[in-house]
Amino acid sequence: MLEGKRALVTGSTSGIGLAIARALRAEGADIVLNGLGEKDEIDKLAAELDADYNGANLLDPAAIKEMMREAGPIDILVNNAGMQHVAPVEDFPPAKWDAVIALNLTATFHTTRLAVPHMKAKGWGRIINTASAHSVTASPFKSAYNASKHAVAGFTKTIALELAQTGVTANCISPGYVWTPLIEGQIPDTMKARGLTREEVINDVLLAKQPTKKFVQPEEIGALAVFLCREEAGNVTGANWAIDGGWTAE
Ligand code: NAD
Repeated sequence: MLEGKRALVTGSTSGIGLAIARALRAEGADIVLNGLGEKDEIDKLAAELDADYNGANLLDPAAIKEMMREAGPIDILVNNAGMQHVAPVEDFPPAKWDAVIALNLTATFHTTRLAVPHMKAKGWGRIINTASAHSVTASPFKSAYNASKHAVAGFTKTIALELAQTGVTANCISPGYVWTPLIEGQIPDTMKARGLTREEVINDVLLAKQPTKKFVQPEEIGALAVFLCREEAGNVTGANWAIDGGWTAE
C-alpha cells in the first residue's frame, strides 16, 4: 500500500517509533530511522528494515535541518521522539524543562516546517505526531511533559487547518501507557516522588489510569499509523486519536 512513499520516523531506534517504522515498512514504505543508541543495534535494525538511518540529535535545530536535507523528500513524517522527566515543579531542573520542550515540541515544529513544502508540491502527505493521553489530561510531577504534549496537540490541529486543501493530513496518536524504555525509566523517579514501591507504581499509578488494566502494545500503535496513511484516511485530519485503554474516556 505504501510502495514509493518515503517515511521518516523520529525516535525509531526503540519502543513506539520502532513499531511504527516496522508497520510502515511492512506496507512497503521506504524508511528513514532516527534515534539514539548503540551502533551495532542500530545497524541491525537498519538491515532488518532495509532502511536509511540518521542519528541527528533532535535537541539541536541545526542537526534537524541537516537530517531533513540528507533524508530527501519525505512523504510520511512521524514525529515520535520524546523524553520524560518526573519531579515536583519546585524541584524541576530548568535544563530538563528545556530539553523536554525542545525534543517533544520544538523538534516537531522543525521537521514539519522542513517537510511540508515537498508534501504540498506533491499534493499528498501524512504527518503523524505521537502525542500522549497527557495531551488532553495531566498527571502530577510531569509538568514539562504534559505542557509539551498539550502543545503538540495544538500544533497538530493548526497545521491540519493550514494544510486542509493540499492532500496533506496531520494527526496525533495519543497512547496511554505503553511498556517501553521510556516508561521503565520513569519508575524510579515516580517511586521517589510519590514514596511508592515499584509494584505500586505499576499497578496503582500507571495501570490505575487504564480501565483495561493492560499496557498498550507498540504494534497496536503501528497499526493505527498505517491506517492514517491509507487513502481512506484522507479526510482524517486534525484528530487526536486516543489509544489508551479507555483512560481519557473517564
Ligand atoms: P523510548 O524511550 O522507547 O523511545 C524514544 C526514542 O526517542 C528512542 O528512539 C530514542 O533514541 C529517541 N530519542 C531520545 N532522545 C532523542 C534525541 N535527543 N534525538 C533523537 N532521538 C532521541 O520511548 P517510547 O515510549 O517509545 O516513546 C515514543 C513516543 O511516545 C514519545 O514521544 C513519548 O512521549 C510517547 N508516548 C509514550 C508512552 C508510553 O507509555 N511509552 C505513552 C504516551 C506517549
